[in-house]
Amino acid sequence: MILPPWLNPVWQRLNETRLRERLPHALLFSGTAGTGKQMIAEQLAHALLCAAPDAAGHACGKCSACSWLLAGTHPDLLVLQPEEAGKSIKIDDVRALCNSLVMTSHAGRYKVAIIHPAEALNINAANSLLKTLEEPTERTVIMLLSARPGRLPATVRSRCQQVPFPVPTQSLACEWLTAQGVDPGVALRCLQLAGGGPLAALEVARSDREQRLAQSLRQLQQVFEGTLDPLKVASEWMADQEQTGLLGWQNWLEEAIRWKIAGSPRIESPDSAQLQQIVETVDCRLLFSLADRVANALNSLGSGLNRQLILEDLLISWAGQAKRDSMRRIARSR
Ligand SMILES: [Zn+2]
Repeated sequence: MILPPWLNPVWQRLNETRLRERLPHALLFSGTAGTGKQMIAEQLAHALLCAAPDAAGHACGKCSACSWLLAGTHPDLLVLQPEEAGKSIKIDDVRALCNSLVMTSHAGRYKVAIIHPAEALNINAANSLLKTLEEPTERTVIMLLSARPGRLPATVRSRCQQVPFPVPTQSLACEWLTAQGVDPGVALRCLQLAGGGPLAALEVARSDREQRLAQSLRQLQQVFEGTLDPLKVASEWMADQEQTGLLGWQNWLEEAIRWKIAGSPRIESPDSAQLQQIVETVDCRLLFSLADRVANALNSLGSGLNRQLILEDLLISWAGQAKRDSMRRIARSR
């Protein structure tokens, strides 16, 4: 597998640690969605399980472990993820994972677990993982993958060694996307819609999500300006099982926060103008609290709470936000 260029330094460091047999038992891969956490986790799992990886850490592709990995049936590679995107990881599944991690490895090498996304662990599920993170059995490597590590309990974070995944520069990301066959004119837009992660941008470019994400952001803009009914948007978003609107909103808010803190946008594209209005008018604390509420909504939507009410509530307060801001501006100008 050829890694995208921005992942090479991350991989080299991990592989050197692997070669020196100094890998920590628990690793927390953290970084924006679509920066390659899963790719590196799989490559490391393969390097640990293959009978004869080369010095660069590439699995041989010929041994029996490699053929199991290729078929997705290697008994020593355990992958834990929510049953459906956006739902939480169940405590029973964490317990089952911990139980299989204490058993000896089938192939006589490592036992490897990948938990993805780690922020889908609810508090109980996270707690049931603590003992395993603290006292793992020999030759066990647990990788937790998270785009929002701040949402993980501190008790989990402190037991893992963090591996940060950088967001590549805009020009490197666009160059890579173009090399993957994405139209150069579309690359930047997809990158922005996806929140900066090139792999996520590629997925956006290859699906119909580009149109739908752009449409959601236009709706948010109109709700903010008071020209579109938030309840209408809520009922439209209700019908979308992939939660495109909320996911796009989350990226958008995070980008607005970064922009506000850094003083300039991370990605300059024709869509930046839309975001600029938000950056200039909405208070930073409010952006943080809204981003938090959107993240909570994404988590709780999966757990069967009343989706429509949550969406309506969020969109109504977004609409109210613009009003409050214009009142504040009027008050200030007096
Ligand atoms: Zn192999």
